[in-house]
Amino acid sequence: MERCEVLVVGGGPAGSVCAGKLVQAGLDVLLLDREVFPRPKPCAGWITPPVLEILKLDPEEYGQGRVLQAINAFRTGLIHGAEVCTRYDAIVSFGIRRYEFDHFLLQRSGVRRILGEPVFSLERHHGGWLVNGSISARLLVGAGGHFCPVARLLGAPVGREDVVVAQVAEFAMNREQQRLCRVPAETPALYFCRDMKGYGWLFRKEGFLNVGLGRMDRADLSRHRRDFCTFIGERWGVDPGMVDHFQGHAYRVCQRRGGRTCVGDGALLVGDAAGLAHPQSGEGILPAIESALLAADTILAAGGDYRRDRLEPYAAGLTSLCGGKSMKIPAATSSSAIARFLGSRLLCNSWFARHVVLERWFLHTDPHPA
Ligand SMILES: Cc1cc2nc3c(=O)[nH]c(=O)nc-3n(C[C@H](O)[C@H](O)[C@H](O)COP(=O)(O)OP(=O)(O)OC[C@H]3O[C@@H](n4cnc5c(N)ncnc54)[C@H](O)[C@@H]3O)c2cc1C
Repeated sequence: MERCEVLVVGGGPAGSVCAGKLVQAGLDVLLLDREVFPRPKPCAGWITPPVLEILKLDPEEYGQGRVLQAINAFRTGLIHGAEVCTRYDAIVSFGIRRYEFDHFLLQRSGVRRILGEPVFSLERHHGGWLVNGSISARLLVGAGGHFCPVARLLGAPVGREDVVVAQVAEFAMNREQQRLCRVPAETPALYFCRDMKGYGWLFRKEGFLNVGLGRMDRADLSRHRRDFCTFIGERWGVDPGMVDHFQGHAYRVCQRRGGRTCVGDGALLVGDAAGLAHPQSGEGILPAIESALLAADTILAAGGDYRRDRLEPYAAGLTSLCGGKSMKIPAATSSSAIARFLGSRLLCNSWFARHVVLERWFLHTDPHPA
């Protein structure tokens, strides 16, 4: 029998950051992930500067032998429509590869781990948990992403929730592809669907290209994605054949009401398991890390008593973390005629692109958020 105080299920950013903080404080922590790291993860790999700040990551050091693409401009517009380029004097974002980033964070956490083993059973056992019939833990941290088994245990109606569905492909371009691809590396492009129910992105990170599309409805996702590929082929010289290998995934966005139950007796959820991605941009790495640190603080303050009421401060902390994030893209909540009007007129307006699309929805640097 393997024993630990805290079992962290999932080794993405949420799991490894939470585990790392608990290990540093001297707790006996075990992390379990069904994958062997480094592992691919469907993601655009866009992070905002607070991610590096909170993680105390030195860009120079992280960038040694890993992709860290500085970004100081964005192109925004409509698929098959007009677009604007917004430039900044400073670096406003970075591009990373999740294959490298998640592996780095997991190694840095120093946590004892079992990789390549999924959690398939969770049973109550002597006031704690028996996991997969062979691991005994007093507390479970559910960091297994949208389909996390701990989230199911706490009652998440997985498969019946409103989710963002997305498809993404990331690959290293060969010399010829790099020559033909006209996308500038420091300028990711975001193109909204005409119905404003999602957007596609085109993101060059050093020698890698990342292409994807996410939508708030599941209908015709592949058709929307194929149409987007045709569009970027015409506009940017990206050969549609290059982006053949799409992976799909789903996630929940942060909601003030109707979100998942994130705390139970001897269990709590962090990151995507808790459904914390930003509602407008889909940014999930930053909230995953913020929730992980909040969870670790709550666990340490609980002093070994992991009953629900001792873990409740975490739920309250999550509510303020989500505060102000629960606005939807205004156009997406309006009638389709208004949405089309706003989409076609405003997205290509340079003031709206800078101050609303980028600084309010994506970069969160707007001092007066809606
Ligand atoms: C297509 C797409 C693009 C995105 N682009 C961005 C972006 O550019 N920037 C951004 O900030 N966010 C982005 N997001 C959101 C972001 O990927 C997530 O919010 C983030 O990965 C959440 O981290 P996490 O640690 O909670 O979960 P994950 O990173 O999903 O990690 C969960 C881990 O749990 C493991 N696991 C799952 N089930 C089990 C099990 N049963 N047993 C054991 N282990 C298990 C998995 O193997 C995985 O390693 C994107 C999401 C998608 C789908």
